[in-house]
Amino acid sequence: FSSKLPNVKTTIFTTMGQLALEHNALNLSQGFPNFEPDPELINLVTKAMKEGYNQYAPMAGLMALREGIAQKMEELYGRSYDPDTDVTVTVGATQAIFTIITAFIGSGDEVVVLKPAYDCYEPAIEVNGGIVVPIQLDNSDFKVNWKEFRSKLTPRTKMVIINTPHNPSGTIFSETDMLQLQKSLKETDIVVISDEVYEHIVFDGKLHNSAAKYDDLGQRTFICGSFGKTFHITGWKMGYCVGPTALMREFRKVHQFNVFCANHAVQKALAIYLKEPEHYLGLNDFYQDKRDAFLHGLEASKFKIKPCQGTYFQLLDYSGISQDPDEVFAERLVREHKIASIPISSFNTKGVDNKLLRFCFAKTEATLEKAVEILCKL
Ligand code: PMP
Ligand code: GLN
Repeated sequence: FSSKLPNVKTTIFTTMGQLALEHNALNLSQGFPNFEPDPELINLVTKAMKEGYNQYAPMAGLMALREGIAQKMEELYGRSYDPDTDVTVTVGATQAIFTIITAFIGSGDEVVVLKPAYDCYEPAIEVNGGIVVPIQLDNSDFKVNWKEFRSKLTPRTKMVIINTPHNPSGTIFSETDMLQLQKSLKETDIVVISDEVYEHIVFDGKLHNSAAKYDDLGQRTFICGSFGKTFHITGWKMGYCVGPTALMREFRKVHQFNVFCANHAVQKALAIYLKEPEHYLGLNDFYQDKRDAFLHGLEASKFKIKPCQGTYFQLLDYSGISQDPDEVFAERLVREHKIASIPISSFNTKGVDNKLLRFCFAKTEATLEKAVEILCKL
């Protein structure tokens, strides 16, 4: 056979996680909390299972959960999505993203991707025969140069993928960025994926600028969300996407043959849990405290630090410590210093040597203290 993805290897998250385990290292690589979700949420799932939510859910998702998602979108971002036609519950944001790309991208279609980019976008484009059109973000502030962006759009451009707050840099799109994006796509049929899985993890009083807030943009955009990030349940693989009716119709044509539906009992529990805004509105402060504690500890280190604006990831510049390429340095940190991180070059920036490692701070106070202790000795 001939491989459809000859250059794709096992993801860095698996590789680093295994290396951390082998070396008994502190694992700040793959993004997941090392603390438990709210016991109330676990009780709701158990209750749903006992009540008989154990067979297939409706294809597009449990209506009560879709209604909850639509209500949240309207309250936070002022856009109305019809739960019947515009909201679909998915097996994590990953499945939403893969399904959107499969539904819209075919041979020779171009997709603009801002790099560094979360690792699932490119293989999904390539396996569907699409062509990745990369735009390298500026290394120091990870801002988009909108003139350059416009220069990459061609008659073959079918899709643009954005991610705010941005993994791995933590940068958020400003109001100006969103307006520039909206303006750049006017008069085109380009579909947008707005990966907003970290929508509730934004710091320093800044606001999340969802694509839903912008009239024209909203009419061409799928917005992807993840309960994994918001409720500390990454292992439950539960997410969703919302989008205009005509686009969602195409999405569901693929979704129904891809997974058909997501876990029923978990949907039932989330439908109840999501009704309380305090279950997600406090997340900004919760993670800002963690970021601040981590960064305060690192003031005594040799890393150069630019506080992230959102997500639960912090990039650290190690150029004052070593001149190793990031993959080499990340591996050395695991083997020699027992701490695991993610080299930023694994976010499709091969060849760009920017001496940055990504550390996940969705960790307990004790883990973060230990991490600081190790990193300050370097
Ligand atoms: N997009 C981004 C930017 C992410 O960081 C992640 C998870 N790490 C996902 C999508 C996937 O989310 P999920 O775990 O819900 O599939
Ligand atoms: N989103 C997680 C991260 O960026 C990883 C999820 C995965 O392993 N695919 O760390």
